Order: sequence, then structure tokens, then C-alpha cells
Amino acid sequence: MDYQILLFYKFVPVADAVSERDALLEICKQLNLKGRIIVAPEGINGTVSGLVADCDAYRAWMDAHPLFAETEYKIDPFEGHAFGRLSVKARAEIVTLGHECEPWEKTGKHLEPAEFKAMMESANPLILDIRNDYEFEVGRFKGAVRPDVKTFKEFPDWLRTVIEPGEERPILTYCTGGIRCEKLTAYLVDQGIENVYQLHGGIVTYGKDEQTQGEHWEGVCYVFDDRVTVPIGPNVTPVTRCLHCGVEIARFINCASVDCNKQFTCCEACEEKFSRSCSEECIHSERRREENGKLAIELRSERIKLRRQAYRARRKERLKAAQCAANAALTEPTIS
Ligand SMILES: [Zn+2]
Ligand SMILES: [Zn+2]
Repeated sequence: MDYQILLFYKFVPVADAVSERDALLEICKQLNLKGRIIVAPEGINGTVSGLVADCDAYRAWMDAHPLFAETEYKIDPFEGHAFGRLSVKARAEIVTLGHECEPWEKTGKHLEPAEFKAMMESANPLILDIRNDYEFEVGRFKGAVRPDVKTFKEFPDWLRTVIEPGEERPILTYCTGGIRCEKLTAYLVDQGIENVYQLHGGIVTYGKDEQTQGEHWEGVCYVFDDRVTVPIGPNVTPVTRCLHCGVEIARFINCASVDCNKQFTCCEACEEKFSRSCSEECIHSERRREENGKLAIELRSERIKLRRQAYRARRKERLKAAQCAANAALTEPTIS
């Protein structure tokens, strides 16, 4: 395979995120990389795809950078670009938690996959899955606690409901690539909770580890690129069922109706029987995607268009709300 997908992050103080963004955008364009990179005062987080030589050149560029040298990469081979476009942004945080913490100063103790596995087996730990609920649904470590939240920002409140004061069990956290753990364990340590450990390199690294071979993982792992999910270790124990016939299977497809585009679990037989659709309505949808590259590209622009529409609608609402607030402020009597 000629292409690679790189997944990386580094927590490091960045004085001028905007100019770093400009430099990153420039090098990514030069190297024809696609994907997403966020740079913030707390560091860098990204996932990009490109030709192997271009990915190598990008890593060499990063290694020569005064701030981004020694970034760790998860590297996967792929048959083409895994993203439709390139987006490089400067933001307030690389992971939005809404709490200031300094993961380069102190975090939960990093455990290598084999250490994490040993601790799951012997220490009766509290295992926290700190990804989104829909990620948990398709795969997780056996015995892990499910996050009952919609966004990462709600995690501190959720943690208060699962971690009792004076919790004696060791707390193990894990996420896809490790970045959320850095931030959340930094927060926990800040809160005075000491017995906190995190899976170094995340689930992705655990699945590739020779010693662990993905043991104790159930289902598959959700990823945010065109692969949708990846297996963890050589054997997959499904935790999901086919939407149509109910057979246990860890196989995900996108509904062929462009207007639905829902991701759902489906066996091969039902994919054919139901024309790759999630519902009766979608089978008869006028705008359906066929299985060829050209239309896949059209679908991508379709998706971007839908996202833009949603963004515009949200912005309009925000503006309206701001205007209402401003009007209210104008009409409110001032207290002197
Ligand atoms: Zn089925
Ligand atoms: Zn559908």
C-alpha cells in the first residue's frame, strides 16, 4: 500500500498557535496531505493521510520543529487518502475539556499495553472508557464503565458519579489514541486523586502490541476516518448486532441513501437483501449512492455541503440569540 494514515498529538506549551497553524497548513499543502490538525496553546493534535514518502517528509519536518519534535505517531498503511480534504485550525484547546490543566507537568501514570493488561487482570481496577458513548457501543474493554455523557466537556461531572470519594481501586483510563487520557488524568490528579493510570498509546497501540494481542477487548474500535472501525488484535468478538436480522456482527456500513447516510451494523447477506439501506424508506430513496469511486467523491462533497448547511443554521440561531440578548439589555432599566 502506497499510503499511510498518521495519528499524533503532543502536549506542549505553544506561544503563537496562529503562526504555527500557518506553517502547518503550508507544509501539509506542499506534501499533499489530507486530514485534520488542531494546534492550540496546549499543543498539537492531528490525523492525516498521504503517500508514504510524503508522510515520512512530514514527520521529518515535525522532528526538526522546536516544539513538535519527539511527537509519537501511530502509523497505519492504507490504499489511498483516508480523508476528503485538509483542515488545519488554531483553537483554544486540542481536546475540549473546558478545564485548564498542564499534561506536560503531571498526568496519570502511563502504562504500556502489557502493564495495562496485567493491571486489568489482577488489581480489581475501575476501568473508565473516556470516549463517546457511540464509540463504546461498538467496542470496549471487558468490564469498562460506560460514559453517560454527550461531550468530553461533561466528563468531569460524570466522573463525580462514578468515582466515590476515597475510591480505593486503581483507576485505569483509556481512549483511542491516548490524547483524552492525558488531559483527563491530568485533571483527576489536579483534583487530588492519586491512584490514576492511563493506557499509553491508546487502544490502537494495545491492539498492535505483540504481548497483549488485543486481549480483553470486545468488539471493534471506532476511528474518525474512512475506515470507520478497525479490529483490535487478531480475533474480533462482536458486541453489536445486524440491524436487520440481529446476528452478532461487527461490520459497519453507511446507508446508501445520501440524505440518510446513517452508519449502521449490517451483515453481508442483509446488505444485499436491503440494498445497503437502513430502512424501507431509504431503499426507495431517490438519491442513492452507488459503489464506485466517482460517486464516493460526490458523496463527500454532499456530506460537506450538509455540514455547512447545519453550521450556517447554527450560526444563524446564535446570532439571533445574541441579538435578542442585546435587545433585552437595551430595554432593561439600568440600576443607578
Ligand atoms: Zn443481517
Ligand atoms: Zn438510511
